[in-house]
Amino acid sequence: MTAEISSGYFSSPFPRRRSVAVDVGGVIVGGLAPVVVQSMTNTDTADVDATVAQVAALHQAGSEIVRVTVDRDESAAAVPRIRERLERLGIYVPLVGDFHYIGHKLLADHPACAEALAKYRINPGNVGFREKKDRQFAAIIETAIRHDKPVRIGVNWGSLDQELLTRLMNENQDRGFLLTAQEVTREAIVQSALLSAELAEEIGLPRHHIILSAKVSQVQDLIAVYTELASRSDHALHLGLTEAGMGTKGIVASSAAMGVLLQQGIGDTIRISLTPEPGGDRTREVQVAQELLQTMGFRQFVPVVAACPGCGRTTSTVFQELAQKIESDLRRNMPVWREKYPGVETLKVAVMGCIVNGPGESKHADIGISLPGTGELPAAPVFADGKKVATLRGTRIAEEFERMVADYIERRFGRSEAFDKAAAE
Ligand code: SF4
Repeated sequence: MTAEISSGYFSSPFPRRRSVAVDVGGVIVGGLAPVVVQSMTNTDTADVDATVAQVAALHQAGSEIVRVTVDRDESAAAVPRIRERLERLGIYVPLVGDFHYIGHKLLADHPACAEALAKYRINPGNVGFREKKDRQFAAIIETAIRHDKPVRIGVNWGSLDQELLTRLMNENQDRGFLLTAQEVTREAIVQSALLSAELAEEIGLPRHHIILSAKVSQVQDLIAVYTELASRSDHALHLGLTEAGMGTKGIVASSAAMGVLLQQGIGDTIRISLTPEPGGDRTREVQVAQELLQTMGFRQFVPVVAACPGCGRTTSTVFQELAQKIESDLRRNMPVWREKYPGVETLKVAVMGCIVNGPGESKHADIGISLPGTGELPAAPVFADGKKVATLRGTRIAEEFERMVADYIERRFGRSEAFDKAAAE
């Protein structure tokens, strides 16, 4: 992946914050590179089969960097095997190791793991306690320098450096409580990230090998902390609302917090930390991250399907089913279509429920259909590039429209010669 300016920011009221670009296994994070989508596995990393399968699924869904837990010897030993298995499958997505408490030891004892990872994530609140803290932090940084790897210094509200917090609380008390406890805690989070980055640089880690994050679980705290971090540093920033929660709550909270920051040009990479439903699909977090960036106009990943919400004019579920089917088909086909039909991610499809807004919205899309609402004649006009091109009737409207969308894609986005050549070889 090469660094390029994300054109969406030209129309933003805020300029993109220019951070120091970091190369994470070939994916550029920061500078003015497009905001990168990340995810994290929830398999036991020592289970190579399960972890390879989940990394592959996350990558297939669009995750550009995948983080795995490295919590014990068995996990560290599994990492190079996971890397190798993925490469045999033709998957080169950068893997990030998530280390807590014994990262210094695991990285020293498993040099193949240290080499196979594209980045190490460490939490300054969890690298060790008291006199061991700086020594163990330095050991991880030295390993990163030796292997020429970047590091994410990832502060987390739930494991904040207690010595630093206590010191700032005491100073605040000495000054007559000028700040609230919440403000002091936010400051401690920011300072923990900045002081750790300073220390890493003193040890010798280049500035372009440092990414910062400061995750908290409340929307207003996240906005305040990252706004401050962005104003006091030019390090690349990884955004994420920690413990965002399940389902709708997690999606809304993450989108609200990150949307505000991204709109201000803050954030070089994002992860949506959704708690999956039992047995739920881990790739949902990737889909939400992509949709957040795409909805805000910063990146394009998949064609957009505009569908009306439906109302009393639609008593059948035909249009809902068609909109859902078109959307899931487009997403499912994207891994192949991205190569086969360059630019297909910019496609806009409309599936509308009745004549009120149907023809208008369909004309604005590249291809759109206005289904018959209650009481309308059973006919569905189809518009392509703003012109009516067909009227579908009968019981096979959905299938016929799907075929028209596929034909439109073939015609408009053509076949890439490179894809045909590679497929023939
Ligand atoms: S387009 Fe028709 S069916 Fe859809 S919300 Fe508007 S009025 Fe209702």
